[in-house]
Amino acid sequence: MKHLLVLLLFFMLACTTQETPIDQVLQNGQWIDLSYDFSDETIYWPTAETFKFDTVFAGFTDSGFYYTAYQYCAAEHGGTHLDAPIHFAEGKKTIDQLSISQLVGPAAVIDVSDKALDDRDYQVSAADFQAWEKTHGKLPDGSIVLLRTGSGKFWPDRETYMGTAELGPAAVAKLHFPGLAPDAATWLVENRKIKALGLDTPSIDYGQSTLFESHQILFKENIPGFENVANLEKLPETGAFIIALPMKIKDGSGGPLRIVAFLP
Ligand SMILES: [Zn+2]
Repeated sequence: MKHLLVLLLFFMLACTTQETPIDQVLQNGQWIDLSYDFSDETIYWPTAETFKFDTVFAGFTDSGFYYTAYQYCAAEHGGTHLDAPIHFAEGKKTIDQLSISQLVGPAAVIDVSDKALDDRDYQVSAADFQAWEKTHGKLPDGSIVLLRTGSGKFWPDRETYMGTAELGPAAVAKLHFPGLAPDAATWLVENRKIKALGLDTPSIDYGQSTLFESHQILFKENIPGFENVANLEKLPETGAFIIALPMKIKDGSGGPLRIVAFLP
């Protein structure tokens, strides 16, 4: 009888401490938040509506309970956000049409911060991807490519982050920040199978771009973009797993993005 009790206890303990592989993986890793919060400091394109946050109610009601609610309003494209392919490619996917499987995957972090901090008009080249591949091997199919330009250290100072603090249409010509060169975008879509491309600047195309060709090239292939991605300096060049889930706006061309990285 005593042996049976011991045996029973053993099985009960074994059951309660039994972990599935996914639990084990999640408990032995680290989450890194790659999103900025939204506030009146959030950086938007110079011509876009910024984030407005108004109090509906905050405090104790006449009935005696505490209650808080706000309302917000903003352009789709600002802060940490996703660009849906339709943003620059007719007939391509809207933000609600992107599958979850396209928005999660292994990260390939391409570090060009040395060059991009030196030259704020720097455009990431195919040679930068090829240099990454020399060290880490061919960009795996299904990668989420993240360009680390080092610009995150300037956030949320508009002047240093994007080249001008001015607002309005005249400010657009004064934008200076790094981006992806169009021929590098072409190299990616013709030679590799990536799920998405993100970076730590306001736009996939560099600040001085007028035709936004890298947007056009990627979006024509239904490859979405992540812009103003935070904390890229905390990611290794390989090994992180990305989950990038945007606000699901029906027919939207973009929207606020909660993007996180998991380091197993
Ligand atoms: Zn955008």
